[in-house]
Amino acid sequence: MPRIRHVNVQDSQGRIYCCLRNRIVTLDERQRSGFCRACPMYAGDAGGRGAECVWDDWRAVPDPYLVPDPAAEYRCNQQRKLKPGAMAVPPAP
Ligand code: SF4
Repeated sequence: MPRIRHVNVQDSQGRIYCCLRNRIVTLDERQRSGFCRACPMYAGDAGGRGAECVWDDWRAVPDPYLVPDPAAEYRCNQQRKLKPGAMAVPPAP
């Protein structure tokens, strides 16, 4: 999977999608100091508008990838592609 720079821009409520926590978060001091500061994915503050996070992304997205809608990004990241023939649930015994 390619390593992609995700430019997470805060929405009107100051929220972004956080890959580390796999949730929508308010990008406040608690998030910045409690999570982003030590996060290996942290790659910048998006020019003061959010957080840039670099991680392996299975989707066909550009690099850098602008993320202005954290809710849509959260939904998209709950989907996982399976290899052809793979089973999501093991068969019953
Ligand atoms: S840098 Fe890490 S902790 Fe901060 S928003 Fe990105 S993925 Fe989440």
